[in-house]
Amino acid sequence: MTVDSAADALMPTYNRADLAFERGEGAYLQNWDGTWYLDFASGIAVTALGHGHPHLVAALTDQAQKVWHTSNLFRIPEGERLARRLCAASFAESVFFCNSGVEAIEAAVKMARKYHDDTGNPHRWRVIACHDAFHGRTLTGIAASGSDKYRKGFEPTMPGFDHVAYDNMNQVRQAITDETAAILVEPVQGEGGIRPADLQYLAALRQVADEYGLLLIFDEIQCGMGRTGRLFAHEWAGVAPDIMPLAKGIGGGFPMGAVLTTQAVADVMGPGSHGTTFGGNPLAMAVGNAVLDVMLAEGFLDGVDTVARDLWAQLRDLAARYPDVIAEVRGAGLMLGLKCAVANADMVAALRGEHMLSVPAGDNVVRLLPPLIIGHDEAAEAVRRIERACVHLGGEASQ
Ligand SMILES: *Cc1c(COP(=O)(O)O)cnc(C)c1O
Repeated sequence: MTVDSAADALMPTYNRADLAFERGEGAYLQNWDGTWYLDFASGIAVTALGHGHPHLVAALTDQAQKVWHTSNLFRIPEGERLARRLCAASFAESVFFCNSGVEAIEAAVKMARKYHDDTGNPHRWRVIACHDAFHGRTLTGIAASGSDKYRKGFEPTMPGFDHVAYDNMNQVRQAITDETAAILVEPVQGEGGIRPADLQYLAALRQVADEYGLLLIFDEIQCGMGRTGRLFAHEWAGVAPDIMPLAKGIGGGFPMGAVLTTQAVADVMGPGSHGTTFGGNPLAMAVGNAVLDVMLAEGFLDGVDTVARDLWAQLRDLAARYPDVIAEVRGAGLMLGLKCAVANADMVAALRGEHMLSVPAGDNVVRLLPPLIIGHDEAAEAVRRIERACVHLGGEASQ
């Protein structure tokens, strides 16, 4: 295969690297020229179980032989099963399936408005969200995301969002009015630069939501599905949201999203209140169940936690030795951010030169989002490649 670098019929919405992968195995991807790359991007936290996972491949191909799509006019048994399993593994009592992260956000905001409308408080419709948050690219998503760069040129902005500083409880309290319906927060900010919220902040959000009768929405589209070493990031804080949008890792690479809620929220979403043609179709549901089979298997999440701690220790050591390249290591579990002392784009390029994939994020951060199936060997291999990138970028080992 050859790659036409003048891909001029594609809309120029993306800054693409001149790489095109033909196949993948576990944590590695093979470029069309035969070179293998260590994949610490995972398609932006999507291929959470790596490439070509036999259990996922089998689930997808088995289902492909049976039936792909029937619409939500009919029952979809694999979807009923997946919803029950997601509820059993979380705070939730009800699940709505969709196809992407931003659709899950869109549905979550609709649910928050409808909940208050149906429970006698139609004046409550505004949502408090955070600066530097990312909630996707529809008009609702860019209105919810607290940064102008996503909204510029697409005004007027959808009304109803009030932004406060992330991880700042005083600002949340001050922003609450009679019109507030919900608080929308990422437990670990992803695009904004891999910023984990203080666990006490997450717990305090739950308290204040209860105090004022607000719905708490945790956007776990990036930080959920095992990424932090627990199935959901908020579990570390010991509190639960009322509504949780999910996507990215939930389909292991198959496009899929979901909104998990309590029964009280689900009760206001009767027939006709919301819908999607593709959401929860048999192909997606088969793969979603296969992903859960792996993630809920005995010891899987503990394994993620263990390898993450090993990787963290080695990266912190590296940051200490190359302070003029890596200023800080931050994040949670296998959702890691290297805050760079050089330009993050240079670091991403240097890593690519070492045949390793990573993802830039806000605040001059390079994201490391390896598949959750990595072992200590791949962690050590990543650290070796990052060290070579540090040297390439002119870093002087300080010891
Ligand atoms: C990626 C992401 C979204 C948007 O998901 P899409 O599938 O791109 O629509 C929303 N919120 C967070 C936290 C994300 O990381």
